[in-house]
Amino acid sequence: MKYDHILIRYGEMTLKSRNRKMFVSALRKRMNRALRGMDVHIKSNRDRAYIVINDEDAYEVIDKLKLISGILSVSPVVRIDKTEEAMQETALLFANDFDADKTFKIEVKRGDKTFHLQTHDIQHLLGGHILENTDHLTVNVRQPDHQITVEVRLDAIYMYHDSVKCLGGLPLGTGGKSLLMLSGGIDSPVAGLDIMRKGVEIEAVHFHSPPYTSPQATDKVKQLVDIMSGRTGFDIKLHIVPFTELQTTLYDRIPDNLSMTSTRRVMLRIAEKLAAKIDAEAVINGENLGQVASQTLTSMYAINEVTNLPVLRPLLTLEKNDIVNMSKRFGTYETSILPFEDCCTIFKPKSPKTKPSLEKVKHFEERVDFEPLIDRAVAGIETYTPSANKEAAAEFEELL
Ligand code: ATP
Ligand code: MG
Repeated sequence: MKYDHILIRYGEMTLKSRNRKMFVSALRKRMNRALRGMDVHIKSNRDRAYIVINDEDAYEVIDKLKLISGILSVSPVVRIDKTEEAMQETALLFANDFDADKTFKIEVKRGDKTFHLQTHDIQHLLGGHILENTDHLTVNVRQPDHQITVEVRLDAIYMYHDSVKCLGGLPLGTGGKSLLMLSGGIDSPVAGLDIMRKGVEIEAVHFHSPPYTSPQATDKVKQLVDIMSGRTGFDIKLHIVPFTELQTTLYDRIPDNLSMTSTRRVMLRIAEKLAAKIDAEAVINGENLGQVASQTLTSMYAINEVTNLPVLRPLLTLEKNDIVNMSKRFGTYETSILPFEDCCTIFKPKSPKTKPSLEKVKHFEERVDFEPLIDRAVAGIETYTPSANKEAAAEFEELL
């Protein structure tokens, strides 16, 4: 089938009547960016958008749209003149692609109320034409294997058969900005992508402790940010915090079974300072209730105490299996499972408390002046930008 358009159905934004214009233009910007380099043209209006795909392959275009938030679903469509012959010819082309012994149905959406044919006229016209000209199909209006949808609009008729579910949610850039704590594991990239699905822009922060953590561990986080940026069409900045001095101080000064709690508290204090600098209104992490010792409610209570900033945990109640599936769907899984650890095993507490007492944690922390160490860590932040990296790589290739 030779398609000429992709029909884009909007996500939740259909509900927001006042902000509609802003949402449509934000989504258009994201689609333009994701389709850069392809010979396509976007036409959008209040209710839906069409992409004119010229000679591009419809499903290659769709692949680039799948992770753009604000798109509910898409269909590759054929746009035809409003004549009976054109409709019959195109409907038959669709039907010829269906396997033998399958059933079909013609679905009509008659947006143009002045069109000379009524819904059932169109169904008879096209259903009859298909039955007369094929011998491998039958009609089933209740549970068809295939449905050919005919949308009669003012400008033309659009016909399609396939519908691909996309991410839904809201267009990026319409929901403020937040700071993602990105560890390199399976969970935090998924948490970031999930919050982006609701229109929230993110920047990421990663804590590394060289030489105890390897350069490969940091490279892996950069790779994750590259993948996430590529898939969402949004350039995610990654702030890399030198954490060695704090990590060794925590190791020396905080009892082993509370060090996990204190480490997370210090990370969060740094994240809060960084969030203020970049105007982020929340911190996001990949925590999941009960998964590990640091992720019990009591533990979250003790960690959260250092900040007033909302700490959002999009994966809080999900099953691990579902998180893994989301990670595969988003394309971050293969990188996340690379073996490089973001925390050296020597710093991993032998038996972290699942119910750390906030009082005790504070008691030990008060004996150390963390503030100057935290300030030094913040001053030493290096920022990685995926697009800048891509440009540098392109320049390098040109030199070869
Ligand atoms: P993940 O799969 O995201 O690593 P996890 O199940 O391994 O999560 P933890 O390693 O205990 O759980 O981390 C919980 C959350 O704390 C992570 O999801 C991440 O948001 C944050 N975090 C942990 N380590 C780091 C780090 N080195 N840099 C930035 N954020 C971190
Ligand atoms: Mg982890």
